[in-house]
Amino acid sequence: MHNFPVPYPNELIYSTVARASIYHGITSPKQLLDEVFNNRKVIATLDLPCHLQSLSEQLKNTGRFSLEELIYRHTMFPLYAPFVTELHRVRAMHLMAGRSQGAVHLLLGVAASRVKTDNRLRYCSECLKVQSQQYGETFWQRNWFFPGLNLCPEHGALHLFAVGTTEQRHQFHALNVKIPNLMNDVPINSDLMHIAKYASQLIAMEPEYSPCKGVQKSSETADGSG
Ligand SMILES: [Zn+2]
Repeated sequence: MHNFPVPYPNELIYSTVARASIYHGITSPKQLLDEVFNNRKVIATLDLPCHLQSLSEQLKNTGRFSLEELIYRHTMFPLYAPFVTELHRVRAMHLMAGRSQGAVHLLLGVAASRVKTDNRLRYCSECLKVQSQQYGETFWQRNWFFPGLNLCPEHGALHLFAVGTTEQRHQFHALNVKIPNLMNDVPINSDLMHIAKYASQLIAMEPEYSPCKGVQKSSETADGSG
C-alpha cells in the first residue's frame, strides 16, 4: 500500500492498519487485507500480530520502523519477551515477521496462560484528550490492553466496547467513540494500578537478549558463600 500511515508513539500496529482503512476509504475488510498485506488470509491480531516485515518495508521511507522497532514499540511482545528463553524470543520475532498461524501465542505461553483475556476493545477518555491534542486524531494505545487488567495505568477506568477483536477474524476495527460503549465499573485498587504501571515499564523496555536462561544448573547458582 502506498502511504501506509505512520504509527504514533505507543500505538498498536493493529490500530495503524485500522487507520489505513479510514485514510484510504476502504470499507471491505478483505480489500484492506489485499491492499496492506497482499494476502486475504491475514487475521486481525491485536496483541501479537504477524506479517510485520511487509509493514516495516512499507514504512521504509520514514527511515524508522525496523521489524524490531515495530515489534517492541507497537505490539505487546515486550510484555512476554523477558520471560521466555532467548531461543523462543528470537523464534517468536521471526514468526511475527512473517506468518504465524497461532504459533507465536503458543511459543510465548499466551495460549496456555491462566490470565483470562478480555478481548473487548477499550479506551481511556483521558488519554484520548491527550491524543487529540497532540496528533489531531485518536488510536488504540498499547497500555489499555494489558491482559487481565482492564485499566489505564495513568488514569484508571476504561470504556469498553461490546465488540471484541476475535469475533470478526479479518476485520481491523478503528477507534470510534461514537459506537456505544460502557464505562468499566470494576473497582480499581492501588495494587492493580501498581501492576499496570509495572507493565507499562515492561512495554517501554529496549530490545535485549532474554535474561531467562531456562533451567539453570545448580553449579551456576551456587555462590560459594555457604
Ligand atoms: Zn489514560
